[in-house]
Amino acid sequence: IDWTIQDGWHNASVVPYGPLQLDPSAAVLHYAQEIFEGLKAYRHEDGSIWTFRPEENAKRLQRSAHRLALPELSVDDFIESLKQLIAIDGAWVPSAPETSLYIRPFMIANESFLGVRPSQKVGYYVIASPAGAYFSGGVAPISIWLSTEYSRAGRGGTGAAKCGGNYAASLLPQQEAYEHGCAQVLFLDGETGSHIDELGGMNIFFVRSDNTIMTPRLSGTILEGITRDSILQIARDRGMEVEERDITIDEWREGLESGLITEVFVCGTAAVIAPVAALKSDGFTIGDENAAAGELTMSIRKELTDIQYGRIPDRHGWLTRLDEP
Ligand code: PMP
Repeated sequence: IDWTIQDGWHNASVVPYGPLQLDPSAAVLHYAQEIFEGLKAYRHEDGSIWTFRPEENAKRLQRSAHRLALPELSVDDFIESLKQLIAIDGAWVPSAPETSLYIRPFMIANESFLGVRPSQKVGYYVIASPAGAYFSGGVAPISIWLSTEYSRAGRGGTGAAKCGGNYAASLLPQQEAYEHGCAQVLFLDGETGSHIDELGGMNIFFVRSDNTIMTPRLSGTILEGITRDSILQIARDRGMEVEERDITIDEWREGLESGLITEVFVCGTAAVIAPVAALKSDGFTIGDENAAAGELTMSIRKELTDIQYGRIPDRHGWLTRLDEP
């Protein structure tokens, strides 16, 4: 669907997958005026196709659009775009356990104009790709790498927006993580460097022995993860205390040593929840790389995936059916 400053959103269409035509001076190519979302379509046992909290993705896309000076797409148009895709490509939603169709909506500035100002011509697109189980062969704890040199966002920056530029900046530290045998990179806040922000593509949680679950607060520099929010609700449903606040690396280390912190996990649409065995950095390791997955980690993961795949009642009304108008 196209947007121009004169006509607003218009020209909605479904076309076969193929290259996009972009002028070499299109704003997105020079100034990274681009935002995106990521969500999944799940096939339930009766064959029907559902997605998880798409209104939240739609609202986050609106917040990202505001930050990147892009036009707002309505929640209804966002959800309609997912339904239109599934109407054509529903057969691509796999049915094997833990598989899904990953859906990638994105918006780009495509005005041909080299001056630095918001584009007056924009395109919104949705593509999709079948996704296998994130953990083939069972959920295995991961080690994560602490980036001491780079941060992902600073105060007033684009950290809370889901824009391509944030990911461009995280590629080098993410590569550093891989080189050290770690699956993900962990960033400290960009302002003081003293507390934990989030990972390259996931939020982080700590489970404590006093019936409390804690996670970094939404400081404006981290992405407001929809999995994060859902986990907080599930923890509250279970009568746990939840704390959203600044958390330091020292608190992690000391919490493990004293037994106050019993489990650490990370979360996002792709993996749902991944248990964390250890944090590594230059010169130190916190935790034990061979540690087993935590009990609560696995139990919350099961509850979330059971809701997504329709195996237990959807008591929060989190699911939206995609394969009917
Ligand atoms: N943080 C970042 C930087 C991410 O890219 C993602 C994945 N969208 C998340 C957190 C987790 O967000 P969600 O649970 O909405 O997938």
